[in-house]
Amino acid sequence: MQSKGYAALAGNSHLESFEFERRSLRPDDVALDILYGGICHSDIHQVREEWGPSLFPMVPGHEIVGRVTEVGSSAHKFKVGDLIGVGVFIDSCRKCENCLSGLQQYCAEGMTGTYNTLERDGSTIAFGGYSNNFVINENYAVRVPGNLALEGVAPLMCAGITLYSPLKHWNASPGKKVAIMGLGGLGHMGVKFAAALGAHVTVLSHSPSKKGDALAMGAHEFKVMDSEDSFKELHRHFDLILNTVSADMPIEKYLNLVKVDGTLVMIGLPINPVSVGAGSLIGSRRSLAGSMIGGIDELQEMIDFCGKHNIVSDVEVIKADYINQAYERTVASDVKYRFVIDSSTY
Ligand code: NAP
Ligand code: ZN
Repeated sequence: MQSKGYAALAGNSHLESFEFERRSLRPDDVALDILYGGICHSDIHQVREEWGPSLFPMVPGHEIVGRVTEVGSSAHKFKVGDLIGVGVFIDSCRKCENCLSGLQQYCAEGMTGTYNTLERDGSTIAFGGYSNNFVINENYAVRVPGNLALEGVAPLMCAGITLYSPLKHWNASPGKKVAIMGLGGLGHMGVKFAAALGAHVTVLSHSPSKKGDALAMGAHEFKVMDSEDSFKELHRHFDLILNTVSADMPIEKYLNLVKVDGTLVMIGLPINPVSVGAGSLIGSRRSLAGSMIGGIDELQEMIDFCGKHNIVSDVEVIKADYINQAYERTVASDVKYRFVIDSSTY
């Protein structure tokens, strides 16, 4: 299948217009025309090789929403015309303990990412969602409810699930004090979900200008963490802190904001390791945890939850030729709150 998109041809390079071929449909595949593709900070980390060597050419993008155009001979989950979403992985081993329990993102053999990896059969580079079409095994796509604004749906496929999953796992609910560190693409979805789940939500930010938006999204409080006093005030305050910041943060200082038996979950993936004194964990029986996206069933659960509660991402829709500027603005924390590429502009 012929495809058009945007690619980085080498590490740290600007993205440019790129034509390529996708595999033709296997019996259990579906093809889709992509309508919108989100820009995740992980795309930027990988184009810039901040997580180690990447595979080029790279067509990034793992926040995909589109309409089914073709269905493989034995595929039965979707029909032509259905709205579907594709997220951060396109395959996994399908037989390990984690895959069988719906945790494909933690596949024992490793999930097959949507891009910056080889396809599961090792044949070709997997190309992602900054493009006009896509082919995927039907079991790795989810159904999108018809009542949601589609440009705001694309980011649910990564930013959405990545916050929904830990909020559910650590039981964000009425009576619980939840903090979201960083009001970016991931963080703003965390605010919306935590509020919808009934938790008391506080945003911990370094951008004072985002306060009004945070409160409008459902946050109850907004704190700029720019002084020792701001940390003192919130000592042992939260049941759960989700750290979505893409840059290195003084994690121990934030850990001290967690109550006895509470948890700080690492979600942002900056370059450097974290250093934490054992005392900060021991002294309040706290946990320091991590969480990565969510499995396919949970992805469907999340998007159905969005349909029911009318939750979408707040987006700036851009044309393909704005991707490089969008990267700069994302890194500068200057996005409200996710860039989404209109796939008709490739
Ligand atoms: P983003 O839209 O750029 O948001 C990151 C936010 O972090 C910014 O809006 C900003 O919020 C804060 N921030 C950025 N630089 C900062 C700095 N120097 N100091 C303090 N705060 C800073 O990024 P994103 O797409 O949400 O992704 C966030 C991170 O999560 C990335 O590292 C990404 O790779 C990772 N990620 C992880 C998973 C997973 O499964 N665990 C999935 C997707 C992405 P304020 O302006 O409010 O401070
Ligand atoms: Zn992502």
